[in-house]
Amino acid sequence: MRVGIGTDVHPVESGRECWVAGLRWDGVDGCAGHSDGDVAAHALCDALLSAAGLGDLGAVFGTGDPRWSGAHGVELLAEVRTRVEAAGYRLGNAVVQVIGNAPKISKRREEAQDVLSKAAGGEVAVSGTTTDGLGLTGRGEGIAAVATACLFPRD
Ligand code: MG
Repeated sequence: MRVGIGTDVHPVESGRECWVAGLRWDGVDGCAGHSDGDVAAHALCDALLSAAGLGDLGAVFGTGDPRWSGAHGVELLAEVRTRVEAAGYRLGNAVVQVIGNAPKISKRREEAQDVLSKAAGGEVAVSGTTTDGLGLTGRGEGIAAVATACLFPRD
């Protein structure tokens, strides 16, 4: 068994479409970034890549690579899954926690877990928390996510 960890933070941009945990959240300001700013999907990508010994998101996709500009986090996660499986592993399970004032994950947890699990090729659990008004997430300046993943050798 191999474990990996991933973290991501993006600044919130007023009026930007919000994509978090593979879902579009109406009425919530989204995150600026090279792609759709989906911190949960990005943290999961890093967790899977690190568990497989494949480096990190920046090394694999490259922020200067126009192919991935505007890419959805779920598309990146599906590509990461392909690479992880090519390296001889499969996802056992992964968890991702979104840290921020909005969106409220619990409202659409099942939907988010379904989308992320399909992309990652294994069970993904999604949770949310706040920092009680403290720090960049508490002030609503950014959204963060932390993920872990557990991989097994492919049969
Ligand atoms: Mg990111």
